[in-house]
Amino acid sequence: MQVNRERLAQFFTELCEIESPSRQEAGVSTYLQNHFTQLGADSISIDTSSSQTGSDTGNLLIRFAGDSQLGDALFFACHMDTVGPVEGVKVARSGDVFSSAGETTLGSDDKSGIASLLELITLLKENNVQHCPFELLFTTCEEIGLLGAKAFDTSVIEAKYGYALDSTKKDKVIIGAPAANRLEVIILGKAAHSGSAPEAGINALAVAAEAITRLTLGRIDELSTANFGLINGGTATNIIPEKVVLKGEVRSHSVELLDKHTATIKETFQDIAENWPSQNQGNGPSVIVDIEEEFPVMSLALSEPVLERINSTSAKLGKTVEFDIAGGGSDANIFCGNGLTTAILPTGMDKVHTTDEQIDLKDMVSLTELLFAMVT
Ligand SMILES: [Zn+2]
Repeated sequence: MQVNRERLAQFFTELCEIESPSRQEAGVSTYLQNHFTQLGADSISIDTSSSQTGSDTGNLLIRFAGDSQLGDALFFACHMDTVGPVEGVKVARSGDVFSSAGETTLGSDDKSGIASLLELITLLKENNVQHCPFELLFTTCEEIGLLGAKAFDTSVIEAKYGYALDSTKKDKVIIGAPAANRLEVIILGKAAHSGSAPEAGINALAVAAEAITRLTLGRIDELSTANFGLINGGTATNIIPEKVVLKGEVRSHSVELLDKHTATIKETFQDIAENWPSQNQGNGPSVIVDIEEEFPVMSLALSEPVLERINSTSAKLGKTVEFDIAGGGSDANIFCGNGLTTAILPTGMDKVHTTDEQIDLKDMVSLTELLFAMVT
């Protein structure tokens, strides 16, 4: 069975040229509903997650019944949104390489995965090829905090495991990704005129600086990282800043270490505030540390059926699979956290989240061949 390269290229180009920043995925969803209806999908449904995500549409779930004698049911997931800038996105093609024609991202993240799925189903249907049961899940708002996946009811998925087509790592299957906590630290000092009454003030910025200096940030250990990326506060150069807000994150492949490092950060801020020199005059700063789970850890054992399936399929194609871990979180973290075993497959997308983003058609062809082998 031959993948139709030019048809795949056309699906990809059409998808990329539908602008779909996060919360505006309805155009892509309509395109997919039209195509999959024509391809004879057994069911197409859109969930009610838009009320939670703020998107103009919900997550899109499409089922192809298939024959379970041809393999366990599977699901494939892609996100429909892309990072900006996307306004007026046009696709440029040079040989087999696609890039954006202007000052926008291309959108191969994640439309390369979606296009491969469209070509896969088209190929199956035009050749009347029997396949295992599978479900296609297209989420919204992945790029702004995995919001679509978080609002998705994973219990409606019939398959026991599946694959997110959403990685840049060539020829590597992602089997682990860190968990992350989001931190907001509010430091409250006391405002005073910096020229006439500096003694009366408590500089919240100085408290923040002391804490940041004492903390270990960046790579903390082999499994964990931490960062503060935003700071906000102060009102004028001649006023001692009363309030500073820091925003940051901790990530770890180990839940225990994530908890430990998060606690250390919280305690460090509290300790510095409690021992601030002006505390003896009953005039010290205070801190409020707000911790929110951003996404849970993803960690697949090599014996999981989801990995055995990709191993055996790849072997049939004469390829060996390498496994790797990712540094970022994605929809797969949420699915795994909700008990839906998900590995992540690469699509060939490269330099994503930049205007230099590009992809080679050959990689999308290989992905489609792999998916074809997996479902048949
Ligand atoms: Zn992505």
